[in-house]
Amino acid sequence: MKYVDEFRRRDLARGLARAIAAEADPARGYNLMEFCGGHTHAIFRFGVQDLMPENLRFVHGPGCPVCVLPVARIENAIELAERHGVILCTYGDMMRVPAGKRRSLLKAKAGGADVRMVYSTQDALAIARKAPERQVVFFAIGFETTTPPTALAIKQAAAEGLENFSVFCNHVLTPAAIRHILESPEVGEQGRLSIDGFLGPSHVSSVIGSRPYAFVAEAYRRPIVIAGFEPLDVMQSALMLIRQLNEGRHEVENQYRRVVTPEGNLKAQALVAEVLTLRRSFEWRGLGPVPESALEIRESFAAFDAERRFDITPSDRGDVKGCLCPSILRGVKKPTDCKLFGTVCTPENPMGSCMVSSEGACAAYWTYGRFRDAGGTRRKREQAA
Ligand code: SF4
Repeated sequence: MKYVDEFRRRDLARGLARAIAAEADPARGYNLMEFCGGHTHAIFRFGVQDLMPENLRFVHGPGCPVCVLPVARIENAIELAERHGVILCTYGDMMRVPAGKRRSLLKAKAGGADVRMVYSTQDALAIARKAPERQVVFFAIGFETTTPPTALAIKQAAAEGLENFSVFCNHVLTPAAIRHILESPEVGEQGRLSIDGFLGPSHVSSVIGSRPYAFVAEAYRRPIVIAGFEPLDVMQSALMLIRQLNEGRHEVENQYRRVVTPEGNLKAQALVAEVLTLRRSFEWRGLGPVPESALEIRESFAAFDAERRFDITPSDRGDVKGCLCPSILRGVKKPTDCKLFGTVCTPENPMGSCMVSSEGACAAYWTYGRFRDAGGTRRKREQAA
């Protein structure tokens, strides 16, 4: 397949692994946070960690929009469907994320609520056009990547006078989350979690560009490489980070140049800025309230804001007891540290968001089974060397 297989070639992977092994300084460690769940899945699916030297560790970050949405917002969505009787449209992953008392949107649907899985905001608009007598709410989640389609749908609804359509906006922003992680006591000078550099978001950066991450290099003196999602992308980015660290540099570099530019997609940014604006603060699962880390609908499009149209009661429900998703999303715990992992909690019976989402770290550990034999794989590699 063109444009995918080229980035999975074994011979090139072996060459990169050799270059990384040759350039990684055995006298130091390299803790590299991959922000995105897409990177985590590439690392696990293709065994990238096994190709790295012992002193290079990938630290999983919070880059899974389903995982970071707090239980309270899912409760709000369930409330919209159950109490307000709306047609609630959302992406598939959100349907199964557990809320309080083991509830979920899927269970609400089974109980009679009108919850529908859609593939795009356009599907939700089409439902609203077909059912003018019903209120249709699109449960919008995602990082910057998915903000343009949400903004476009709101603009279209306004242009068409579609009064039965609104959006429950939960879009979150990556630079604010990275800043929050770097400011956290766990990562600060005295913190127990050391992060030497970042594999930066790729699809997000196709919209916002690589420039918004300059603060990581300038203010926090950490290198960041915008990295694609294929295994060779991840490995090349790791090599670029190693080189920066070895040379004492801290810069924003762009490995994903086939998609990302420094300025990003200006047309998409203008569309988003016209419809959405910064929230003062937003609660992230695992990170808590993060200032200016999310978007809300502008006053000029308030008629399409589900939070204003419906009386949504704030919920204070917390995470499922025993679930370590909050710590995993901060990079301080691994899925295998959770007592529920693979016993009570599996993809068929998820207890937390990190096991539900296709980008979740727990789902990555479980799906590719590498947790079962991590030591054995490394031993085999050492014997073969
Ligand atoms: S294994 Fe399940 S319960 Fe444990 S942290 Fe992951 S999602 Fe939460």
